[in-house]
Amino acid sequence: MTKENLSDIKNNIRHMIHAKDVSFQYIKHDEDGNPVGTVTAVDGVDMTINKGEFIAILGHNGSGKSTLAKHFNALLYPSKGSVLVDGMDTNDDDNIWDIRQKAGMVFQNPDNQIIGQIVEEDVGFGPENMGVPTDEIWERVNESLKTVGMYEYRKASPNHLSGGQKQRVSIAGVIAMHPECIIMDEPTAMLDPSGRKEVIRAARALNDVEQITVILITHYMEEVVYADKIFVMDKGQVVMSGTPREIFAQVDKLKELRLDVPQVTLLADNLRKKGLDLPECILTREELVEALTKLKQNSLD
Ligand code: ADP
Ligand code: MG
Repeated sequence: MTKENLSDIKNNIRHMIHAKDVSFQYIKHDEDGNPVGTVTAVDGVDMTINKGEFIAILGHNGSGKSTLAKHFNALLYPSKGSVLVDGMDTNDDDNIWDIRQKAGMVFQNPDNQIIGQIVEEDVGFGPENMGVPTDEIWERVNESLKTVGMYEYRKASPNHLSGGQKQRVSIAGVIAMHPECIIMDEPTAMLDPSGRKEVIRAARALNDVEQITVILITHYMEEVVYADKIFVMDKGQVVMSGTPREIFAQVDKLKELRLDVPQVTLLADNLRKKGLDLPECILTREELVEALTKLKQNSLD
């Protein structure tokens, strides 16, 4: 075995997702359904996501986030390049079912994802389709509903739940399949602020408590400040990557990409420009409160 082989093997063990020079083209059709050209939705993306990480992907509409995400559980295959999911190449048909079990996906609209008439029945569909024995299905359903804080609603009809609750049921349905990775494509886009909080809290718990790799695609900057790493996409390419602090320190570049920074970061930035001696790039309310308290303390001393 060569040295290169050994390091490849080590990386395969560590990497949940490894995208190498991935490009994807959609075929454009005219009104009669005839192909008339292509749209490059993903353009030469390299991305490595380690097991256990909480990753956020940002980018304005049409930047290629959803198209890329669908490569991570083999819903789409690269036109060029390759995607490895836990070392398995999505281009190899023999891997598809293993990959889909390993990397689950949650979409924007909870109403399109819930099919059961009763919450627990809905959550059980995934493991049932996988051929999990009945006793174990119930164990998984209960455990998954507890993880997202929806256990008390197990006998409820999904129709009677709020958006945030429905989305948590969708997440439970995915985790009942015991994935190692969960990809959430704007899971909070259709929710009110409290629903958004519920879903993000559940996503963070999956990562913290269950060590599931989480890939969160979102428009809301406040949701990504806790991520280990952020990737920013534009025109199908990854144009920025780094920790939240590294990313949000670049206010001007984000504006160019038509993205915001968290409200509290902007506020702290304004206060600093007014002469308050605050640290660079404050990301959370707690950090701002702490910095202001310190300032006050210093002025009293
Ligand atoms: P995002 O999720 O960042 O909004 P998408 O991945 O949905 O971006 O889209 C990337 C590009 O691909 C856009 O230009 C979009 O119009 C195009 N696109 C997306 N889905 C399709 C499709 N099914 N057929 C043709 N073009 C598509
Ligand atoms: Mg999208």
